[in-house]
Amino acid sequence: MNVGVIGTGAIGTDHIRRLTGRVAGARVTAVFDVDTARAATVAAMAGAASHREADDVIDDPAVEAVLVASPGDTHADLVLACIAAGKPVLCEKPLASTSDAALKVVEAEVTYGRRLVQVGFMRRYDGGYLGVKTALAAGRIGEPLLVHCVHRNVSVPPSFTGDMSLTDSLVHEVDACRWLLDQEIVAATVVDVPHSPLALPQLRDPRLVLLETERGIVIDAEVFVNARYGYDVRCEVVGTTGTVALDAPSTGVVALEGGRVQALPMDWEARFGQAYVDELQAWVDAASQGTADGPSAWDGYAATAVAEAAVASRGARTKVDLAERPGLYSGESLP
Ligand code: NAP
Repeated sequence: MNVGVIGTGAIGTDHIRRLTGRVAGARVTAVFDVDTARAATVAAMAGAASHREADDVIDDPAVEAVLVASPGDTHADLVLACIAAGKPVLCEKPLASTSDAALKVVEAEVTYGRRLVQVGFMRRYDGGYLGVKTALAAGRIGEPLLVHCVHRNVSVPPSFTGDMSLTDSLVHEVDACRWLLDQEIVAATVVDVPHSPLALPQLRDPRLVLLETERGIVIDAEVFVNARYGYDVRCEVVGTTGTVALDAPSTGVVALEGGRVQALPMDWEARFGQAYVDELQAWVDAASQGTADGPSAWDGYAATAVAEAAVASRGARTKVDLAERPGLYSGESLP
């Protein structure tokens, strides 16, 4: 399958390497990035053409499917153009920067009549999360009551501003919890915590968010994007008869005089490298049949709607304003 990639920054380049070397059945034949020098370098690496506009990638007759890895505020329009062209698209999270824009994608896909969109919530392909999902489905911890989530990055670039820790980072926790618990999130409350002096002044960091599901389960999610010490993602579901949690991932244990030091991954690639490969393989397998699997446009919309409620919260419990889920997404989007 010939893939066109829009956005050749950090994750776009990583995805191109995976599609080229670790995923079966795909080759990258066209790229675009507003940074034309970066696009040219990456195009040369992949043996792909470097196009002048994003639309040239989508409309390229040789391109059979599109991967969108540009910044979040560009996603919705690009995905709409892919749907209009009838091409399967893997869109990195978030699907859109507003729920209105995400809903337009949902509506366009419903009008098209079948799924073309997969959203890059790769945690659904991670062995640790799949283990938690399997334990919950088997009833190993009884009925889930509450969930503790932690999302910590070493640092973020200066372009990461405003409420992006909610709109770009919290969405991962939202999607993971919706998928694990198989229910929608209906309310969000952001609790004030002290601002880290190491975080850039334009970013409130860390954030602590309480989420409530439609069946009353409460999730506490910490998002701390300047945590400095490592890339640390945790999730523990507490049930009536036990708990189930992700394993603490480790890149090794160093024995030193007087103790042992467990090394941590320092970025998402070290923590979720295999999950990205499995996500891309699932996408290629479905897209080469002209369809999409995995996290859907509805999942992308729901995550953005929850993030929007969190942004609006400012300390107050805020209801998530969710549209009615179209039949196209019943069943398969919350497996
Ligand atoms: P990045 O390194 O800044 O790369 C984005 C690239 O897109 C840059 O080269 C940027 O150029 C370019 N760009 C800007 N506007 C564009 C446009 N209109 N059309 C095409 N390209 C454009 O960012 P990133 O870390 O790769 O993140 C990209 C997306 O992936 C974000 O939505 C992010 O949330 C998501 N992401 C997901 C994960 C995950 O775990 N699933 C991990 C990382 C990132 P300039 O630098 O010149 O603006």
